[in-house]
Amino acid sequence: MLELGAHVSVAGGVDQALTRAAAFEMTACQIFTKNANQWSAKPLDPATVERFHEQRVATRIDHLVAHDSYLINMASSDDAMREKSRLAFRDELDRCERLRVPYLVAHPGAHMGSGEESGIRCVAEGINQIHAERPHGATMVLLETTAGQGTSLGRTFEELAAIIDLVADKARVGVCFDTCHVFAAGYELRDAESYAATMRAFDEIIGLGRLRAFHLNDSKKGLGSRVDRHAHIGEGELGTEAFRFILSDPRFDGLPGLLETPKGDDGEEDRRNLATLRGLVAKSPALVVTA
Ligand SMILES: [Zn+2]
Ligand SMILES: [Zn+2]
Repeated sequence: MLELGAHVSVAGGVDQALTRAAAFEMTACQIFTKNANQWSAKPLDPATVERFHEQRVATRIDHLVAHDSYLINMASSDDAMREKSRLAFRDELDRCERLRVPYLVAHPGAHMGSGEESGIRCVAEGINQIHAERPHGATMVLLETTAGQGTSLGRTFEELAAIIDLVADKARVGVCFDTCHVFAAGYELRDAESYAATMRAFDEIIGLGRLRAFHLNDSKKGLGSRVDRHAHIGEGELGTEAFRFILSDPRFDGLPGLLETPKGDDGEEDRRNLATLRGLVAKSPALVVTA
């Protein structure tokens, strides 16, 4: 069984995210360590970092993931954009290190017309340079599977494998599997046979050992649409079965499974989606031992 949680707001400070996650009985959560729509951010203040560590112990939420800013594009063929992105990404990794967040999920980026090969090379070079500058970094970069909108990289398992192939220190890179994105990219997950085939392909091309986190989102758009629109669990084109397969797949026991589904300020939709997910793996009557 996955450790279930959601992307949670850090309004009021990163430590507040853990308080919010605990209120919904999450055992995992994803945060932004800075405003995701801005390039720069004030350094994390030591008191906030301290409170974050204390809250982590108090809430026992130990499956933490950060997501990088939407502005970052290390795949860009524009030198200035790529360097700006690389420095911003390095700062995000530094923030994760201070917060002891083990995973930073990143969209691989968009090649903007320069071609997949060029984009793949740029991303790997950026990661390699950061790794060289931060030889003791403990936070792992998780490249996220994408729906493949526009020139976005990460639509195919092969593209992610190609990036990882060029990363020198492979122990510091993994993959985040977004159910909505993978489905919109054209991988079927809705029946047992197709689910098994998609996971087999992932294993052969990337390796299941590199899969470190799931984003659990239903999809408003259909198989192969290449459009990234998240829906509530069971209310989109994906339906509930795909989630049941993932949640009950013992190969993924203990990995964080995070909702990124639409919600209002009170986050009540998370409660409903988490209940739906938990309900999918509730013991079936046939398995209950009776006298
Ligand atoms: Zn995602
Ligand atoms: Zn998405």
